[in-house]
Amino acid sequence: MTRLSFMTRLSFLPLLLAAVLSACQSGGSAVPAESLAALDTATIMRHIRVLAADSLMGRAPGTAGEDKTVAYLESEFKAIGLKPGNTDGTWIQKVPLVGITVKGAPALTFAKGSARKSLKWRDDYVAWTKHVAPTAALDKSELVFVGYGTEAPEFTWDDFKGLDATGKTLVMLVNDPPLADTSQFGGKRMTYYGRWTYKYEQGMRHKAAGVLLVHETGPAGYPFAVVQGKTSEQFDLVTPDKNMGRSSVEGWITAEQAKALFAMAGQDFDALKASAATREFKPVPLGVTASVRLENTLRTIDSRNVLAKLEGSDAALKDEYVIYTAHWDHFGIGEKVKGDSIYNGAEDNASGTAGLLAMARAFAAAKSPPRRSILFLSVTAEEQGLLGSQYYAVTPVYPLAKTLANINMDGLNTWGPTKDLTVIGLGASELDDFATAAAAEQGRVLRPDAEPEKGFYYRSDHFNFAKLGVPAFDPEAGVDYVGKPAGFGMQKRDEYTANDYHKPQDEIKPGWELSGAVQDLTLLFTMGYRVANAEKLPAWRSGNEFRAVREKQLQATSRP
Ligand SMILES: [Zn+2]
Repeated sequence: MTRLSFMTRLSFLPLLLAAVLSACQSGGSAVPAESLAALDTATIMRHIRVLAADSLMGRAPGTAGEDKTVAYLESEFKAIGLKPGNTDGTWIQKVPLVGITVKGAPALTFAKGSARKSLKWRDDYVAWTKHVAPTAALDKSELVFVGYGTEAPEFTWDDFKGLDATGKTLVMLVNDPPLADTSQFGGKRMTYYGRWTYKYEQGMRHKAAGVLLVHETGPAGYPFAVVQGKTSEQFDLVTPDKNMGRSSVEGWITAEQAKALFAMAGQDFDALKASAATREFKPVPLGVTASVRLENTLRTIDSRNVLAKLEGSDAALKDEYVIYTAHWDHFGIGEKVKGDSIYNGAEDNASGTAGLLAMARAFAAAKSPPRRSILFLSVTAEEQGLLGSQYYAVTPVYPLAKTLANINMDGLNTWGPTKDLTVIGLGASELDDFATAAAAEQGRVLRPDAEPEKGFYYRSDHFNFAKLGVPAFDPEAGVDYVGKPAGFGMQKRDEYTANDYHKPQDEIKPGWELSGAVQDLTLLFTMGYRVANAEKLPAWRSGNEFRAVREKQLQATSRP
């Protein structure tokens, strides 16, 4: 199909300039047919077979499985004809990790005057430290209830009201304040202010000694059993300050223990919780102290992100990037389930990694590369808390202000073509316009996340880019399968969650059909290619919590 050129449209339709500009930004322009032809099911399956094989031992960071995985990625990127992605001429970005395990089962003690209350490890509370140090403690640290612990200037919301939290232990609720006015915060969608990681970061920003979150299953989105999983080894990045800027102790207490604590303080939990859902809320010192001493076992691991790049064709723009990501890691060899101990992670994320390699091959096949450069970034330690992508985002090889977008692949569709594509966080940025256009050209539509209240947008690698301002796109398989009965997609999804997710049973399944993956990759290629050729950078939508960060970042950088 022939399309009118940009200039022809401009000369004939000057009044529609704005509309045309926006159409040319996000859709309409041709993508190289030779690239799309290079996306095929056989290539993707070949990569999945290698990456999910038992010989790669579940691809755990810091193991021989990592060595084999990284070697495979390097050799494939090289064979595709890409350049090493790091500026030092290598394919590697080293990622220093530390595993911290709390020894024994320390008690957390609340005290008020002569009254004492001792919380039992794991049953009543869990805690950890990110300090790379043999011990971390709270020593009679004053407890202060800070509601949702949120400071959101765009919603004129401030739970701290000038509180000096230095050395104190902050007690916080999870999720966003539940407001009747759904135009505030995300409505049904959880914003980043609601996510537990944000709450601990607030503790750090306010120099608090500790942060204890009150676990309530509804607002958290998962039961306390999930939180109890944090009593095993926790991984983190080793920052130059060995994470000493973080609060000493981070943790969760059960709702039951929170109620008992508030009663001890002479306060009513439900009443204070209700007042926390108002702008007038002020921090409430509880008059109770917290003490706990964590003794840690430390283990350091040097892991690796693998990077490859395709240089842009425009000399003035080739130092700007679109980044495709997929995490290569999984859980390695672990606890036996149904007689199998190798966590192959075929879907999670051998498939996405295969998609990344296929995407690289498609871009390399283009007779004319896009104007800007494309970085293919295979990150480590996603399963330990999105650590490889976090490391890239805080230590970027190319400036984030010159990074237009991140497109993430975490699990490909393995069950055939769909009429839709699920987009986690649909509505977040102008990347949606590119995706909508590319989907429409396939006769498909975008579908929002079915459970926006659970904050899935904050749970994969793209989020580390979003948090630092870069518009980030997180697609998932559609649910409306061509030629399949209604409910087929959800059934496959539920089966995966119940039987395979994070288990050794996540293996290549007999019925896998990758034509749907090719369809999705075609869409993601089309998006990325057009973003890399666009006249302007894609932006966050107004009201999005990352928009201010991006605007500040772009202002700080003089662009040509
Ligand atoms: Zn994954």
